[in-house]
Amino acid sequence: MIVFTSDIDWAPEEVIADTINLFEFYGVRCTFFSTHHSIELTKCNKNLFETGIHPNFNPILNGQSDKRAVDIVDEIMDIHPEAQGVRSHSMLQSTELLQMFTDKKLLYDANHFLPYQSGLKPIKLWTGLVRIPYNWEDDVHWAYGYSFDDSGMNLEDEDLVVFAFSPIHIYLNTENKYRYNEAKRHYQDAKALLEFRNTEVVGTRDLLISLLSYCKHNNLTTRKLADIANEFLLKSNGGI
Ligand SMILES: [Zn+2]
Repeated sequence: MIVFTSDIDWAPEEVIADTINLFEFYGVRCTFFSTHHSIELTKCNKNLFETGIHPNFNPILNGQSDKRAVDIVDEIMDIHPEAQGVRSHSMLQSTELLQMFTDKKLLYDANHFLPYQSGLKPIKLWTGLVRIPYNWEDDVHWAYGYSFDDSGMNLEDEDLVVFAFSPIHIYLNTENKYRYNEAKRHYQDAKALLEFRNTEVVGTRDLLISLLSYCKHNNLTTRKLADIANEFLLKSNGGI
């Protein structure tokens, strides 16, 4: 089962809109993990899109913040009170955070990354939180030095194939870290970023489009992560 997720990572509105438009065009569902208030996310089609939270705990680790982890979660939950899921920026997780996510009434976490592993299934954690792992991420694909001609995933896998695409890399059609490092200083300027879009080799955007087109042409029903978590709970509770 193919599933799409996207961490918006403070991308400007035009860049978020660009990602939303691609998914809309192909009628494919996607779960966003949000770092901030975005009009584009607020007004997007809720049948296709779900918004979870993407809290950034790194400033605490770097000594750049005197906030507590719970304050960071509360801030982003205030913006997205409907959020049912969480993926931390930089995938940060701990037993304490998992308990806090549960106390905040979140349904699932999507922090656990197992690159290119097959046989992925949701599991229920000791706190009651459902864990939905993921097995593909754009920047990790180039960190391995892989080409974007192929995701390296078995698209016919009956278990979960969970992609994580970032709007910025979709927009830039990023194929390696050098392009991203060059473009990064214009992060908040969509027009300037466009000058850095890769048109030379197959990149992140090309791969996403080929996957979306695969889903559409094979009439695949894609799901949001909250739906997967709820279906899993229903099944594991024996349908009660
Ligand atoms: Zn992130």
